[in-house]
Amino acid sequence: MDEFNSETDSEYSNYWRDWFISSRGNEYFCEIDEDYLTDRFNLTGLNTEVQYYQYALDLVTDVFDLDCDDDMREQIEKSARHLYGLVHARYIVTTRGLSKMLDKFKKGEFGKCPRVVCQSHPLLPMGQHDSPNISAVKLYCAKCEDLYNPKSSRHAAIDGAYFGTSFHSILFQVYPAMLPPKSSARYEPRVFGFKVHAAAALARWQEVKKEDMLLRLKDLAVETGFEEEEAEEMTDEEMSEIEDDTKLIEDGLVGAAR
Ligand SMILES: [Zn+2]
Repeated sequence: MDEFNSETDSEYSNYWRDWFISSRGNEYFCEIDEDYLTDRFNLTGLNTEVQYYQYALDLVTDVFDLDCDDDMREQIEKSARHLYGLVHARYIVTTRGLSKMLDKFKKGEFGKCPRVVCQSHPLLPMGQHDSPNISAVKLYCAKCEDLYNPKSSRHAAIDGAYFGTSFHSILFQVYPAMLPPKSSARYEPRVFGFKVHAAAALARWQEVKKEDMLLRLKDLAVETGFEEEEAEEMTDEEMSEIEDDTKLIEDGLVGAAR
């Protein structure tokens, strides 16, 4: 921390931000432009959210020159990190911020989906709340459309509000080509190579319902976004099994609903 007391090379050096971005555990953050940080409009409302707001902002923009003791310094440092996070959530939905985060996404800097069937699809950080101190950052996989906890405890402690609830959706709206084709590939439980009957019966029934839905959508000329799959030819035996299963499962569902 002592480095901060040393003279900065020029008025425009981004010393604090460089340090923050390169610190271990802060890999999910991108660097907020000086222009963005110095435009008061972008910081609207944050003065009530952050303690020692002005000192924190001075620290983030490298114009901090208050002579204070270590405790105070630490408080201001903490506030600066909080302020940076809150501005970050706003910055990453701007054109410039989106493009910086896209680069990190492409390099897989937010990690890869742990689900085997997703084949290491890159993740995006997101929050489940836009207000701070409610929940930690989660990682979103666009392939399975699910959320995961970060692997490292350093990342798991970051506030989700520093990324926000909308960022990942906005990114895919702005860069639709980044959306992976939808896949219905999934794991099939087997015992010594044979499909587990109950699970297989349910899976077959779901498969038939999905096919029905896709055909209906096709008739209505609705674009589903599912990738083309090689349809497997079904044998007569399988067809009759499905009919039996459908009967059983539908009876079961009706029974359960009663
Ligand atoms: Zn996934």
